[in-house]
Amino acid sequence: MAALVLLPIEVSDAGWLQDVFKGSSKQGKSPKQLSSPKHVTPPKRANSPKRATLAKSASPKHHTVKLAALGPAALNLPAPKPLATMCDPSRFRIVLDVGHTASSEGAISARNVAEFVFNQRLAQRIEEKLKAEGFAETRLLVTEGKARPSLVKRVAAANDLHANLFLSIHHDSVPDSFLENWEFEGKKSHFSDRFSGYSVFVSHGNPDFKTSLLFAELVAKEMKAQGLQYAQQYTQAVMGRYQHPLLNKETGVYSYDKLIVLKSTRMPAVLLEAGSIINRDEELKMDSPERRDIISSGVTAAVKEFCDPRWALLGPL
Ligand SMILES: [Zn+2]
Repeated sequence: MAALVLLPIEVSDAGWLQDVFKGSSKQGKSPKQLSSPKHVTPPKRANSPKRATLAKSASPKHHTVKLAALGPAALNLPAPKPLATMCDPSRFRIVLDVGHTASSEGAISARNVAEFVFNQRLAQRIEEKLKAEGFAETRLLVTEGKARPSLVKRVAAANDLHANLFLSIHHDSVPDSFLENWEFEGKKSHFSDRFSGYSVFVSHGNPDFKTSLLFAELVAKEMKAQGLQYAQQYTQAVMGRYQHPLLNKETGVYSYDKLIVLKSTRMPAVLLEAGSIINRDEELKMDSPERRDIISSGVTAAVKEFCDPRWALLGPL
């Protein structure tokens, strides 16, 4: 069923992130990659105790910011690039990409609501919260048209906007083979209560993978701090070609290297699957203003912390 609403990019169970966002027709990851601990090196800052966080703030980006505060002339250094303004919320531009389009709506929930509707509502709430916190340059990116061309459009829009950060908002489903039948309001519908939870994706193909991972870790950490569990099925053999390497088993950050919106954006980019809408219980939660508030507060906290790591320690500055 989900295949009907998405581009038939390659496989029948296309009603789902994996197929919509693939940048190549090659499927899956090798088992070797799955078990490889090579990429399991989230930035220390994201995982370290908070005190260590401050001491460790000598990452190039934040070092640049500090030096900029002192004045490049006094230090006889070349003028820092726009990174110097990263911690100015009024100038920091995050693009909130609403996953899918009105005409290519993504997955269909257990109660027959399009993923696009969920994505739009959540992204709007995140936008409101970020703007309320002073991130005036936040942009909601709603794209039109068919799935595949829309990917190129949204990447181009984010690049043209010279965004500092790109966050794509989605809601999760399952491969078609997991779907079960039920009736909702007299209509034959599909569900799978087997999996639930959020997940966060980054691509090694992004030109700034390290910063993408840093932000992904902050988002995932905030989701976890809100008491949410991450979706663990992507590591399971039962997912077959839909398996993805788990980069951090504490927080639920996965890599998905071929996703176009993550690899072709010229700024750090992260994709958040906020929760499952094919799971009947979780769909109800994802449909509630309370859950949207929890997730949007978490994302806002992650952006603040990304923008200024002191926030994590001191709260609002
Ligand atoms: Zn999606």
